[in-house]
Amino acid sequence: MKRLKERIVKDGKVIGTEILKVDNFLNHQVDVPFIDEIGKAFYELFKDAGVTRILTIEASGIPVAFAAARFFGVPMVYAKKFPNAVKDESAEHLYQSEVYSFTKQASYNIRVTKEYIRPGDKILIIDDFLANGKAAAGLADIVHQAGAEVAGIGIVIEKGFQNGRQTVETLGYRIESLAIVDSMGENGIVFRE
Ligand code: 5GP
Repeated sequence: MKRLKERIVKDGKVIGTEILKVDNFLNHQVDVPFIDEIGKAFYELFKDAGVTRILTIEASGIPVAFAAARFFGVPMVYAKKFPNAVKDESAEHLYQSEVYSFTKQASYNIRVTKEYIRPGDKILIIDDFLANGKAAAGLADIVHQAGAEVAGIGIVIEKGFQNGRQTVETLGYRIESLAIVDSMGENGIVFRE
């Protein structure tokens, strides 16, 4: 998505060699008309996939998933994060999965109440970034626990120099990223064509 790449170049801040911050339009302040365009781009990519629900993870996935859900006309559900990575075995009303956070270098637990994903649902997973694919894999794990199907994975910014794509493709999922960053460093941000 050309406008997204331009926006990343204009407003993205590279932290070290591996973290990209886009606080000015997605991760802190939200540029609503622009995120709406991103939602539409996901709709164009996945409109034939039979999507019945969109699943993301709090917090930064929410604006994008919300925007996409408007175009699909389906509900959007977000998994909640809990810092204690250990599953609550007594919580029978929840689907839970453990996710290792690349940015925080620690594991956490994600949870979705069972009534919000149903057997037979076709779930589009959406997130802001793909790094090593742990968040996407955790969300897909929850989809399977529910007896639902992953219709695809939509990512706003994929860091192509980390192994997230390999992780989710090995699991057999279709993944579409609106921008793929191949490197960030002295030569600026380099995108995959
Ligand atoms: P993964 O699970 O693929 O390793 O990492 C993806 C998750 O970590 C996303 O939900 C995102 O919130 C966060 N993340 C990973 N890398 C970055 C990054 O460079 N910038 C920002 N803002 N978030 C990131």
